[in-house]
Amino acid sequence: MIEQINKLRKEKNAVILAHNYQIPEIQDLADFVGDSYGLSKEASKTEADLIVFCGVHFMAETASIISPDKKVIIPDPEAGCSLASSITAEQLRNWKAEFPDAVVVSYVNTTAEIKAESDYCCTSGNAVQVVNAIPADKKILFLPDKFLGRYVAAVTGRDMEIWNGCCHVHEKIGDINFNEMYEKYPGAEFLIHPECGCSSSCMLKSTMYEDCKNLKIFSTEGMINFVENSDAKDFVIATETGILHRLKKAKPGRNFYPLSENAVCEYMKMITVEKLYNSLLNETVEVKVPEELAAKARIPIQRMLEII
Ligand code: SF4
Repeated sequence: MIEQINKLRKEKNAVILAHNYQIPEIQDLADFVGDSYGLSKEASKTEADLIVFCGVHFMAETASIISPDKKVIIPDPEAGCSLASSITAEQLRNWKAEFPDAVVVSYVNTTAEIKAESDYCCTSGNAVQVVNAIPADKKILFLPDKFLGRYVAAVTGRDMEIWNGCCHVHEKIGDINFNEMYEKYPGAEFLIHPECGCSSSCMLKSTMYEDCKNLKIFSTEGMINFVENSDAKDFVIATETGILHRLKKAKPGRNFYPLSENAVCEYMKMITVEKLYNSLLNETVEVKVPEELAAKARIPIQRMLEII
């Protein structure tokens, strides 16, 4: 099947993009592995005719919004996101009606419809910068991740209303006692990858509790650079466990421990090699955001890109 995938990708001039949380076999087959923002950038500059997006649905939608001329397909359209599903466009319109002068900042883990109703998008890595760029007298409606919202409010001190959404992976992680982890792995580096709701609660904790003072927050590339240049033998990683595969490949011989074994996103694991093969063979399932909606959704993304 892997041989067939390699043959098809050449014949069809396809690029395979895989999120850091995909299963190891998919990551190894991909042309690029990264976070949703990094993959969107790859999608926008690729020369390929076909983009196979191995991630969850809103990420493939974002690739379609940014690259309207490319055909974007996802191997399993049921690969959703509990965080993106935690607010509908109608709920957002009602919320905006309650605070008509507020500025809406949406985390990128949202559907195209939500982006189209937003003033700014942000990633977890740039949310503080985006909020700080908005005039200080403006109230902010932040959605959908309550942990990321509370983190940003704590760091910026801004007047913010925060949507009560979160990711189900966080619920499975439970309440983490960082002190226990420090005792278990003395000398380890504690790294948070700030993508997805599964790690935003750790970011919030890092502002609230003394025992989190050694935590370091990194983007994917920042995390890999840090690991490559660190002399530490042990690393504790606070995010979805799929990223451990990439870190182990980047620095063989070191130990990488998940902060929680339960930090697994089932949606991300829905993409299999067989589904990837069928998707490439049949060029299904296409994810195409209608141009009128895509044009509106591009505005908050563009505003974010102008700030960072
Ligand atoms: S980890 Fe959570 S926020 Fe990330 S894709 Fe899965 S459900 Fe969505």
